[in-house]
Formats: sequence, structure tokens, C-alpha cells
Amino acid sequence: MPKGVQRPMARESWMAERLRCSYLLALVVAVLLAACSRTAPPPREASPATTPAAGNQVRVVVSLPVFISLVEAVGGDRVRVSSLVPAGTDPHTYQPTPRDAQALAEADVVFVNGLGLEGWLGDLITAAGSGAPVVELAEGLQTIPEEPHQGTPETTPGQSTPQGEHTHEHGAGNPHLWLDPDYAIEYVRRIAQSLEEVDSGGASTYQTNAERYIAEIQAFDAWAKGQVQRIPPARRKLVTFHDAFPYFAEHYGLELVGVIVLSPGREPSPQELAQLVDLIRQQGVPAIFTEPQFNPKLAETLARETGVKVLELYSDTPPTGEDYIGMMRRNVEHVVEGLE
Ligand SMILES: [Zn+2]
Repeated sequence: MPKGVQRPMARESWMAERLRCSYLLALVVAVLLAACSRTAPPPREASPATTPAAGNQVRVVVSLPVFISLVEAVGGDRVRVSSLVPAGTDPHTYQPTPRDAQALAEADVVFVNGLGLEGWLGDLITAAGSGAPVVELAEGLQTIPEEPHQGTPETTPGQSTPQGEHTHEHGAGNPHLWLDPDYAIEYVRRIAQSLEEVDSGGASTYQTNAERYIAEIQAFDAWAKGQVQRIPPARRKLVTFHDAFPYFAEHYGLELVGVIVLSPGREPSPQELAQLVDLIRQQGVPAIFTEPQFNPKLAETLARETGVKVLELYSDTPPTGEDYIGMMRRNVEHVVEGLE
């Protein structure tokens, strides 16, 4: 065997491709097996009391847990909703399972965020052979570009910065639009429109429910704007775990000073952490915010270094028992508690 011909790097990526193909093949097989053997519907965990007409319910699959309550608010008893990403799991680094392929194969409509947030989903829908329409809730909406927050040339002249290597592994524009209530309202409208298209008999229900939930979001938002006014303007500074809150910050007049993890799944370097510590001190940031789906150790280290408070924010999964509005209320309460 001619050793000189070996190219370890190329070989590695070839192996990765092989593994990827085997994985997809396994998914396809799982879907076919499921389709062939399915004589009785799989057991459902959710609300047996409201499923006498289970066969007639619109089967909805969403990508993230936070979208479940938006669809349920619009669909009521006419829909049965499940999320591909389980509660409390980071959607950026999620690895889909054969169970997800089966859920997609059985779906009547699929709601995803888009903008590259569900990068793992593309192959899965094809592999599942799902004929359901896939609705991208953020499609065509005005986005904020993804940018590095700490270590910008203005604040650290002459130093090397992480700017060049910043990749959030999202697509064009930051994808977390739903954390701005105005965009959440747009999501609700799109959900109502799409449910109407797959279930025209429920049109008036969907429209009525959507208008009611939009009014609830607006009432929440008016309250939230009043709450933010309690924070002195100089303290309206946000440092979050990952880059999920630029729309939230802009909507409520907060300055997004920095993020702890520039790219989900990649730990910051000691140098990046040191820059963030400097920034928190220079800017007098009163608190930093973790997210429950991520390891809190980094934030705790930062808090020890800087003496600031640590509180939680929610982006992809509402706290147990809360819907979208409840999650947003919790976010606003924590921001006010941390910064005022
Ligand atoms: Zn994210």
C-alpha cells in the first residue's frame, strides 16, 4: 500500500460523507418500515380528553417548542401539534431522529422558522417523503444581520478580534424574529392563513382565534414597554448567552452589548471571554443572561469575574406550563429585575 498517496484530511471528509449517507439511508428505511407496518395510530401523550375526533384533527409539526403554543392558540381543538426539537434542547446543534421522520411523514402541515435556523431539517423532509406544505414563518421578513458584538475594532483598537471567525451557523440574517412581538404577530397571521389552506372548514375559527391571540400579544407588549421604562436608560444593556435577542433588544430599546457564545456549539476562547469581561466592566452592564438549554458554567464564571447578576432568558422553549406570551412575560420580568 503506497503510504505517500494517503491524504488524511480528504479521507476524513470522505468518511464523514459516507457516515452522513448511511445515516440518511437509515432514516429512509425507518420511514418505509413505519409506513408499511402502520395499522394502528401510535399512542399519543397529549390531552386524551380533546381527542375523540383525533382522526379529523389537522396534524401539525413545528420545528421548535416555542411555536407549539402559537399554533395551538390559532388551531384550538382542530389541531394536534408536536415539535421536532424537544423542549429544552438547543435547536442549533440538534440531531434529528427516525421518530422525527415519521412525524413529518404523517404531518398535514409543517411550520419552521427558516433563515437557516433548522439547517438539519432539509434532508429529513425529503427522506421522510412528506408531502405536507412546509411553511417558513420568517420568510421575507426584514432581518437584522448577524454581527459579532464584543471585541469590535472601536472598543479594542489594534487588538486581534474574533470578528473574522464569527459564524453563527444561521443563514441570511439573524433568525430569532419571534422574540419581537410584532414579528410573533406576523407568525400568528401566517399560521392562521396556512391552517386555513389545509383545513378550509376551520377558516372562521382560525381567523377568530388568531385575532384574539394577536390582541393578547398586543396587550402583553403594551405592559412590557411600560416595564422596561423602569430601567434607567444607562442600564438598558443586554449580554445574552447566544445571539438570540437582537429583535427583542431593538423592540424594547435595549442595547445588545455582547453574547457569551458567538457560535452555538463552540465554546468561546479564553481571549474572547476576557474581552467580554472587559466589556461588561467598561459598559457597566448590570447583569448577564443565560438560557436553560445551555450549560450555565460559562455565565457563572463571567459573573464571578465581574460581580454581576445572572438571570435566565427563554428563546426556543417556554418555561413549563407557559405559552409564548408567558415566556415573553418571564423574559421582560427577568430583564427588568436584572437591569433596573
Ligand atoms: Zn439561536
